[in-house]
Amino acid sequence: MGSPASSVDGFVREFLRELNFGQGVALTGSEVNDQYLALARTVRHYLMARWLETLRRQADTQSKGVAYLSAEYLLGRQLNNALLATGLTDIVKQGLAQCGIDLADLRAQEVEPGLGNGGLGRLAACFIDSLATMSVPCIGYGIRYEYGIFRQTFVDGRQVEQPDSWLALGAPWEFPHPEAAQTVHFGGRTETYDDEGVERSRWIPAWNVQAVPYNYMVPGYQNGRVNTLRLWRAVATDAFDLRIFNSGDYEEAVRAQTFAENISKVLYPEDSTPQGKELRLQQQYFFVAASIANFLDDVLPEGFDLARLPERIIFQLNDTHPVIAVPELMRVLVDERKMDWDDAWAITQKCFAYTCHTLLPEALEVWPVALLGKLLPRHLEIIYRINDEFLEAVRERFGDDELRIRRMSIIAEHPERAVRMAYLATVAGAKVNGVAELHSQLLRDKVLPDFDEFYPGKFTNVTNGITPRRFVRLANPALSELITDAVGVGWITDLERLRELEPFAEDEDFRLRFREVKAHNKRRLNGVLQQRDGLSVGDDHMLDVMVKRLHEYKRQLLKVLHIVTLYDRISTGELDPADVTPRTFVFGAKAAPGYKMAKEIIHLINAVGTVVNADPKVQDRINVLFPPNYNVTLAEKLIPAADLSEQISLAGKEASGTGNMKFALNGALTIGTDDGANVEIRQLVGDEHFFLFGMLEPEVEALAAKGYVPSSFYEADPNLRRAIDLISSGAFSGGDKTTFEPVVANLLYEDRFMVLADYASYLEAQEKVDAAYADQEAWTRSAILNVARSGYFSSDRSMRDYIDRIWHTPPTF
Ligand SMILES: *Cc1c(COP(=O)(O)O)cnc(C)c1O
Repeated sequence: MGSPASSVDGFVREFLRELNFGQGVALTGSEVNDQYLALARTVRHYLMARWLETLRRQADTQSKGVAYLSAEYLLGRQLNNALLATGLTDIVKQGLAQCGIDLADLRAQEVEPGLGNGGLGRLAACFIDSLATMSVPCIGYGIRYEYGIFRQTFVDGRQVEQPDSWLALGAPWEFPHPEAAQTVHFGGRTETYDDEGVERSRWIPAWNVQAVPYNYMVPGYQNGRVNTLRLWRAVATDAFDLRIFNSGDYEEAVRAQTFAENISKVLYPEDSTPQGKELRLQQQYFFVAASIANFLDDVLPEGFDLARLPERIIFQLNDTHPVIAVPELMRVLVDERKMDWDDAWAITQKCFAYTCHTLLPEALEVWPVALLGKLLPRHLEIIYRINDEFLEAVRERFGDDELRIRRMSIIAEHPERAVRMAYLATVAGAKVNGVAELHSQLLRDKVLPDFDEFYPGKFTNVTNGITPRRFVRLANPALSELITDAVGVGWITDLERLRELEPFAEDEDFRLRFREVKAHNKRRLNGVLQQRDGLSVGDDHMLDVMVKRLHEYKRQLLKVLHIVTLYDRISTGELDPADVTPRTFVFGAKAAPGYKMAKEIIHLINAVGTVVNADPKVQDRINVLFPPNYNVTLAEKLIPAADLSEQISLAGKEASGTGNMKFALNGALTIGTDDGANVEIRQLVGDEHFFLFGMLEPEVEALAAKGYVPSSFYEADPNLRRAIDLISSGAFSGGDKTTFEPVVANLLYEDRFMVLADYASYLEAQEKVDAAYADQEAWTRSAILNVARSGYFSSDRSMRDYIDRIWHTPPTF
């Protein structure tokens, strides 16, 4: 396929052809959606030649690559990124203008593919962007959910979920390949048989489903490379499997077959709290089985010697969701390719690496043996054998230390017999990594200490990162221009070059321009919020932003208590409004639909906002905005406008965070606890440019050990008491004292994440924020230094660390 000429005229010809022959409409009278689809397909053409070239060279060089296995990819909109990657933005803007079309209107038409919940899915999207930009061979494997993360609306301040029909207006970025479908099997039973004197096992499945690949282009930044993201869609087969009759459970087989297409219907909206539903396990096995088969059968050359598999691929497990890939690869090697068990296990242990994303015990996935055995009977056998041999090795090393054996077993016995997926991944993985220094340390010391002792050198850290293409260059064009004026364009692919901005922090003119960039971004945000929700940020307000999934450990409640305290003190006259820094507090957060407390907290935030925003005594001083449906598109507008970044999780609970990095790189200052990557941000930007508060992780542990009594903090602190009493009084619920009773009771009598214990320290830090903000020159200096010193948080650096410490996959071309 010839690439269209890179000229305005060439573009216009190509665009009109897509509009006429692709969409079947004339320019006059065409709808914005037609124009958007035609533009997307035109841009796709420009990338196509590079994509095919990448695939051809990949086949020629046969170098080692990464298969990133992730149940989630939170991609964000594609058009702008594709334009940036191809360097076509100006040509397209001009060409469209000739047709009387504004590029901005077409950009706004795109519905983002919300195929992830939050940080974990966004991380996967940043990583594949970086690998393409660094010319490292990578295939991202995942699921093409028909409905991604729900669309959030508020009704009377409560969250209501709407289905996300992201495919309804057309999906111009995907390439379905039904001819390359894989069959994925489920259920049934296993048997042993004699294979020319060797006893072997085989799986007689009961039902199956077709996995149809949908390919997406992952363009590198202006480097001519286009990697592939391959998302699988479940399609029912009508080919009736005769062996079903022998499986003994005909009705179950037919029922399962009928519902097969449900597998890729919807993304589970739980974040950090897996539900253990059968459909979820089906999703997990569905996509990893299809991916492994695709890699072995279609990506590797025919006749490839599988003994050499580790020279060609590393399967990176993004959390435990894809860990069923471990027994699947063993099954393929041993049962299908007739490899000796020990040889297959040696290969498998070199082909997987595991990233752990949590410290919360409830987030560590386990699958009941009963369920796993029913759905994947052969895999359960394989897991048992892996466990037997592993525990044998543990015994050899430590003797019959039964407590240790029980602690380390891949099979938990209580409360029900279940497979601990994190343990399976740790035993099988060549490496296990946490996602920030503190998290990796706690992982070794607290979560998997026995394994760290048993496998010296297996545990490592790779601190998360974010792609500077999307989250600085595209999200913040004004700042990007300022940076490029100062230090050249090299920073976009070499983010440490932001260091060269440091001297500009002392340059008064540069600081002025930096403030103008913020002001510009606030106006831009106002335009978006006005149009989307009828909201706006007050002129010259400090923009104080907390955006992330709603979870108790992230402590949105601590932020609410701060706002209620301010409100209380202003409205009672204790604080002179003139002495209060005008601030707009912005929240963005979705709660898992089944997470009751999270939804109560959303209701409370909205209720407090309604009262505060309507009260003339505080009105032009503090405001609370909660635009619904926080997603990547909104993040790209909110974060560049922010002055203050709220990263206030209980120390030891946030594995890394990546929102924190996006803010620092866009020139917000952070108020945060000593948690996750906040620790590294503070070390890099410097104590004096970061507002630290709260207990340190060892202090949290100590308080928990001695017995945490939240009500004692309530009794002892009059400010805290007033804030909580005000909520209890019905002040935010039209006088109804029962509305927020569950939230208040939880705080006073449970408070698992020690909100009350950190409240006083948080308030004190917020006073320092106010004082610092009063000196705009000093604040701007700090903001510039935050940008200059945060280059480390590029996902390009994360990828280099994975390559050096785990993957050993050099760039190719
Ligand atoms: C970056 C990002 C996240 C992760 O935010 P944290 O503050 O690290 O939890 C979640 N959702 C979206 C849309 C993001 O862009």
